[in-house]
Amino acid sequence: MKENCKIVQDLLPNYIENLTNEETNNYIEKHLNNCEECSKIYSSMKENIKLEPIEMKKEVKYMKKFNKQIKVLKFLIIAILIIFIFVIGRKTIIMTSLYNNANENLERYLNNYHITSTIYSKNEIIYTETYCNGIARISFTKKGTIGEVEEEITCYERDNEKINLLKSGNLKIKSDNISDIHVTPQVYTSTFFSNLQNSFIIDIESVTLNSKKCYVVKSKSYDRFIEKETGLLLKEIDYANATVTDYCYEFGNVEDDDIIRPDTTGYIEQ
Ligand SMILES: [Zn+2]
Repeated sequence: MKENCKIVQDLLPNYIENLTNEETNNYIEKHLNNCEECSKIYSSMKENIKLEPIEMKKEVKYMKKFNKQIKVLKFLIIAILIIFIFVIGRKTIIMTSLYNNANENLERYLNNYHITSTIYSKNEIIYTETYCNGIARISFTKKGTIGEVEEEITCYERDNEKINLLKSGNLKIKSDNISDIHVTPQVYTSTFFSNLQNSFIIDIESVTLNSKKCYVVKSKSYDRFIEKETGLLLKEIDYANATVTDYCYEFGNVEDDDIIRPDTTGYIEQ
């Protein structure tokens, strides 16, 4: 009997799952009716196998739920990524197009220009006017407050001659030590990759400034108003230095007569 028990117990799992043939089934059933031990084993095996599908179902259900959550999460991540790429991409493209507009015209801009810049700070206004025709250049700078000019600086360049003049009250000095002040066309945007990097820290809005269509590029430390058509900086609000600067541009109108060697009479050479 013991020998048969072993055989029957080996066959039991297949028997429970209906994988055994009829002849074997008869043999097993006959044995189970007569053997208490195998019958017990059979009962407990049957119970376990019955339980398994329930456990399995639970697991499958859980997995399905989990997969659903993963799908939702994936969708959200992709959606956020698309929005992010779109926002960053838009800013990068705007800045790059401004740069391209300026760069395409830069030669024309630098060849002949009349630019004024006015820097307003808490205690001072600095007004600079530069005339340049590609051959010669002259700049007039006035520093002071509203209604009172405290300092005047004139910087002149033609051929190999450079004249820097400072007038401060009664003091009139002609010196190379006076720092050159000139305004040039201001381009603040840059090439694609550097614009891409910048896009993470700036915001861009479309505005109109003195009836000119602009983008205002905003960061923590500045607001820069850049003209759409020319790509040039028209206004800068610098929060770090607490200054506001306005720029006015005119191109192609400077004649040679506009750049006259300044009269140095009365200036003391230093
Ligand atoms: Zn048995």
